[in-house]
Amino acid sequence: MSFNKYRRIYWSDIKLFLDCPCCFHIKHRYGLWRPQTPDTEESFGLYGVADNLQKKEHNLFREWKLHPLVDDIADEPIDAIPFNDENNSISRWQNHKEGLQFFDKNSNILFCGIIDDVWISSKNELIIVDYKTTTRDLASIGDNDKYQVSFYSWVLKNSTFVQNSSYTVSEIAYLLYYSVLKDGGTSFLPYNLKLEFKPSLVTCKINYNWIEGILSAIYECLNADGAPAANPRCNFCKYRQTYVRTLNQISAGSTMKKF
Ligand code: SF4
Repeated sequence: MSFNKYRRIYWSDIKLFLDCPCCFHIKHRYGLWRPQTPDTEESFGLYGVADNLQKKEHNLFREWKLHPLVDDIADEPIDAIPFNDENNSISRWQNHKEGLQFFDKNSNILFCGIIDDVWISSKNELIIVDYKTTTRDLASIGDNDKYQVSFYSWVLKNSTFVQNSSYTVSEIAYLLYYSVLKDGGTSFLPYNLKLEFKPSLVTCKINYNWIEGILSAIYECLNADGAPAANPRCNFCKYRQTYVRTLNQISAGSTMKKF
């Protein structure tokens, strides 16, 4: 271990670590970020715009009740209302500059979660809610989203906000998917440059079992002297290696096929 520097870790960092510990190490130790593409979920393309609009719309209702859409699509009545408190904590938790926070003094890491929403049940349990815009079929969505809401619930549970209050954190979270209708939905002819979405509410059981193992692996990776092996299936690295090889061949005067 080389040092124990203070760091911030977001869900996107954990996702990057799960994808490739090498890229995670290079980002945090050398400040070199893997490029984002328009179809990566963390990029602020159409996904980001749609997520922000959803957040805005749900916030319009938050003083009174859940967005009426939730009742329409839920399989059974939801025992919850949007969470509000006198300090307007939700606006800080939704803010990219702050978010939910838990500082772990053993690892010197501030764990942060920029959340979409929090609801509260009649039992005073706080429930994490995440809005997702997707082009995928719900059946093909993997476990990443479940890990994400579990991570947010873990941060909330350990935050000083919950630790110093009578609130508890629910054993469930909700994923509110807005799936784009690829055939244009009802406005297919003409679609008038409008995309239509089908909302679905998925209840997700919180799972904390994976968190400690991953976090200690992250801590070791952050403080290791060398970078771990790269993910052999990653297209970024394949491109990088081919690019460097091609440049070297050009500078060495090799006759390259031109297009
Ligand atoms: S394989 Fe290379 S580019 Fe891809 S994620 Fe890992 S270090 Fe980054």
